[in-house]
Amino acid sequence: MSTLRFQALKEASTRKPVHFEEIDRKSNLFGSNVFNEKAMKQYLTSDALKGVRDAIQHGTKIERKLADYIAMGMKEWALAKGVTHYTHWFQPLTGTTAEKHDAFFETSYDGSDPVEKFGGAQLVQQEPDASSFPNGGIRNTFEARGYTAWDPTSPAFIYGTTLCIPTVFIAYTGEALDNKIPLLRALSAIDEAATEVCKYFDKNVKKVTATLGWEQEYFLIDKALANSRPDLMMTGRTLLGHTSAKGQQLDDHYFGSIPTRALTYMRDLEQECMLLGIPVKTRHNEVAPNQFELAPIFEETNLAVDHNSLLMDVMQRVAERHDFKVLFHEKPFKGVNGSGKHNNWSLATDTGVNLLSPSKTPMSNLQFLTFFINTIKAVNDNETLLRASIATASNDHRLGANEAPPAIMSVFIGAQLTKVLSELESVTTGKLSPEEKTDLKLNVVGKIPDVLLDNTDRNRTSPFAFTGNKFEFRAVGSNSNCSNAMTTLNAIVAKQLIDFKNEVENLIESKDMKKDDAIFNVLREYIKQSKKILFEGDGYSEAWEKEAGKRGLSNFKTTPEAIKAKVSKQALDLFAELGIFNHVEAEARYEIELEEYTKKIQIEGRVLGDIARNHVIPTAIRYQNTLIENVKGLKEIFGKEFETIAKEQITLIKEISGHIEGINSKVLAMTNERKKANQLTDAQKMAEAYCNKVKPYFEDIRNHCDKLELLVDDESWTLTKYRELLFTK
Ligand code: ADP
Ligand code: MG
Repeated sequence: MSTLRFQALKEASTRKPVHFEEIDRKSNLFGSNVFNEKAMKQYLTSDALKGVRDAIQHGTKIERKLADYIAMGMKEWALAKGVTHYTHWFQPLTGTTAEKHDAFFETSYDGSDPVEKFGGAQLVQQEPDASSFPNGGIRNTFEARGYTAWDPTSPAFIYGTTLCIPTVFIAYTGEALDNKIPLLRALSAIDEAATEVCKYFDKNVKKVTATLGWEQEYFLIDKALANSRPDLMMTGRTLLGHTSAKGQQLDDHYFGSIPTRALTYMRDLEQECMLLGIPVKTRHNEVAPNQFELAPIFEETNLAVDHNSLLMDVMQRVAERHDFKVLFHEKPFKGVNGSGKHNNWSLATDTGVNLLSPSKTPMSNLQFLTFFINTIKAVNDNETLLRASIATASNDHRLGANEAPPAIMSVFIGAQLTKVLSELESVTTGKLSPEEKTDLKLNVVGKIPDVLLDNTDRNRTSPFAFTGNKFEFRAVGSNSNCSNAMTTLNAIVAKQLIDFKNEVENLIESKDMKKDDAIFNVLREYIKQSKKILFEGDGYSEAWEKEAGKRGLSNFKTTPEAIKAKVSKQALDLFAELGIFNHVEAEARYEIELEEYTKKIQIEGRVLGDIARNHVIPTAIRYQNTLIENVKGLKEIFGKEFETIAKEQITLIKEISGHIEGINSKVLAMTNERKKANQLTDAQKMAEAYCNKVKPYFEDIRNHCDKLELLVDDESWTLTKYRELLFTK
């Protein structure tokens, strides 16, 4: 009997929910481990407090002297909460978060005067030994080291006994080495561009903030069971395993009652989130068995991205206490739904207006339409770049694999807004007559709020859908850092708004148009130019693939194809113009992502080869041997007659041999393709070879293994099965 699997099953089946009690109501706990306004008011001098506020609101630089005072307050606050260490917390290009803890504790050189120390210098800058973080060749020279620098716009927080200071990670030569710097640059670009456009409608707007509310999907698997699967451990997904007889076909898990162990985990997790100031709000079962979702109240994008990265870390740590493992992979199990991370996005002014929310007056609705149509135009003109922003080896399993959503980018806006756009499309070219303007304002622009109320036809198959007061970018991978998608989306909209402003100004100046006339004229042209991206139908259908092809929309099903758009001339120019990436940074990131893709497929190939040969084949042979013994015995007893009696056994023996042969030859062929791919020196070509030459063997090898799983005696099968992973609660 295979011991690991059955031990794990025994462990998992006898587990009880871990005891957990909430310490206080959520509103009392919220943010108590965050150095937020409340804590700053208590621990900072008024000058220091003003310095931080100015930095957050206006990006003002914090002087060193002031940093000393802030650090002092921060240290006092942290020490009062039992903190012993501090760390600069950052997001290198590995997709996860990084930290290096230093104790506050210091002594003089002779060991005397022990003291807890933390000053402005430690707050503002730290030098992690950064040579092993991905840098895409930026830091090849000895001098070009990296350092982390404090990001005052995301508040410091305490996790465990460590004070975590959100920071950016930057090369001494100035290039960004992390996910946060480009995001901050993109957010500043959209702030500037959107504020300028807002001034057409309200002169009081001084700042526009991009908002993000992510929805995080995940699987929760018993720890013992997850650990019994080497593929889950090493790659985050199952590389083989026959689908369970029962999967999600009965839809009995979706929104069903949450299993007790999972619910206890969620309550514990939510309490941690409250302390850390992550405003989690929603929890429910997802479509696949043991799949769940968690969503917060939306926040300013930089903070929301930090909170999502932090959450993913906290989720794994809390899971440890509850004997669970969280799977963030986009497709951990074949045959049931994968996981995504919907990014709900909008723009908010400092006057309290959601720019993507229609309202009561025609004038503010013209503002809504301006931002709405500009966003659609931005996606239309940059669909390949948007697709590239969500391309990873694991997300390829969702996009372009007959699952939510397709690899084709399109925008869903609903029937009513489609009608509004078509009416705006027939606006007169040039100056509008007073009658036309009145009619537009009363009957088209003025009607939107009523209309949206009954706009309920949500299309779940659309990768980018308007949902009443925000856009929902649904194609982001569950395992991704949101910043890649958010940097790109905010960048392309920022660029679009700059172009819009220029075009409107141009009409006002050269054609002597009124502001409204100019805006209507430009929007009309945008609607005409953005037709190809609007799609209301079933995004999964073959018909759409054909139609999208005719429209000239891209349909990149794999990462190596998709990410080329990141270094297209259009993308390089756009990023450079907005100051988000210079060419060196953009090229470096593209290289890093190619390498990451290659490594992921390489690891999967190795793990699959190992499991197939070291687990599956030996098990199959053992079982085949019992069959052979059986046939021998039958021959001894029945003599010539045995051929009829042992017919089925003999067929099985042959079938097993066939699959063993299949596995061996395919693993060998795959290994050869890997060796060939490794010889390539061009990162793009190597990723393509892994994608097109190595990866196709995975399915073949898996099929042979999965067939054997069905043939071999359950008692001797070593790998924990799908039904056990998915239905143990
Ligand atoms: P669903 O898409 O599952 O129907 P909801 O429409 O309730 O869910 O909202 C999903 C997410 O959208 C939530 O995380 C919420 O915080 C976020 N959200 C709501 N309004 C905004 C906004 N203005 N900007 C960004 N995110 C928002
Ligand atoms: Mg959603």
